[in-house]
Amino acid sequence: MCAWLQFPLKIDASRKILHIDMDAFYAQIEIRDNPALQDEQVILARDPRKTGGTGVVATANYHARQVGVHSAMSAAEALEKAPEAVFVTPDFDKYRKVSEQVHGIFHQFTDKIEPIAFDEAYLDLSDYEESLVTIAHRLQQKIFDELALTSSVGISFNKFLAKLASEHNKPAGLTVIRIEDIRPFLDAQPIESIRGVGTKTAERMHELHIENGNDLYQLSQDTLIDEFGKQGFELYQRIRGIDDRPVQYERQRKSIGKEHTFNPPVRSEQETLDESRSIAKEVVQALKNKKMHGKTLVLKLRDEMFNTTTHRATFNDFIENDPNVIYNLAVDILEEIGGYTTPLRLVGLTVTGLTPISFENITLSLYES
Ligand SMILES: [Mg+2]
Repeated sequence: MCAWLQFPLKIDASRKILHIDMDAFYAQIEIRDNPALQDEQVILARDPRKTGGTGVVATANYHARQVGVHSAMSAAEALEKAPEAVFVTPDFDKYRKVSEQVHGIFHQFTDKIEPIAFDEAYLDLSDYEESLVTIAHRLQQKIFDELALTSSVGISFNKFLAKLASEHNKPAGLTVIRIEDIRPFLDAQPIESIRGVGTKTAERMHELHIENGNDLYQLSQDTLIDEFGKQGFELYQRIRGIDDRPVQYERQRKSIGKEHTFNPPVRSEQETLDESRSIAKEVVQALKNKKMHGKTLVLKLRDEMFNTTTHRATFNDFIENDPNVIYNLAVDILEEIGGYTTPLRLVGLTVTGLTPISFENITLSLYES
């Protein structure tokens, strides 16, 4: 028997972890932008009646989910289940943009963010003194006020429990799992909703008459390891509320960029320059907020055919965090590649190779001058 199996199990309840998941994200954005869809079954997929049946469901709203439509289902099957449904072709550019706005709001609360998907993240809020319920309400309210979108939040002291909690009460839910809630909460979970139990594992569990969390809890560590190996050991811990995985946030960002997408595309040089100027302002604001600067500027362009290109210029000295400086450098890069030549769906500016604006940098330049 391995040594690590003999450590006594201990629940670390010292952290404050929040899991947030936007409710039916893509569908919610489409309904927000087209309120006529409000009471309809909405399926995000190209309409199978127009494509000849190809295509896959990206997501669906709760009305459509109620009749059995789910993501990754073929659009044709979704149509069978929901013949009255409205099919909306997904606009991933738009969702990416909204996702950035959502993440921007997360950053107003903490930089200890582990993004899981476009619409989902863990936040480590251990540094907060006040109740996480208060903070979660504030976060959900802010997202709703600024973006008119609802989210569901789970709060606990580890990632496993926080995620289960956020799934517990959707949409617009807020669920807390405290240490005294672990047994009743986990015991009642169907085996499929316990993270780490995939389809294959679930099948084997059913053969072993393990239907819910309580059944799983009754099994010995040896039995679980014999049956499921390393995963069995993990499940033995999880079902006891133990999960020591840290929230893996980026300790230091290597680049800061902003981009604007356009639908319809921008169609003139002047418009492109105007947009670049406003993007430069945003980049500088973000750099100042993070107290960072860098030596490389990247210009990103996407044309009408969705071809995306990046062009960079690197300098010996740090680029000054001044909108005019960054704008002028961007214009230089644009001129170097032949200027404005084609309608653009996206213009972006990013400063990379970031370094904190530290005391040393400042004193060094003072001595140099
Ligand atoms: Mg979601």
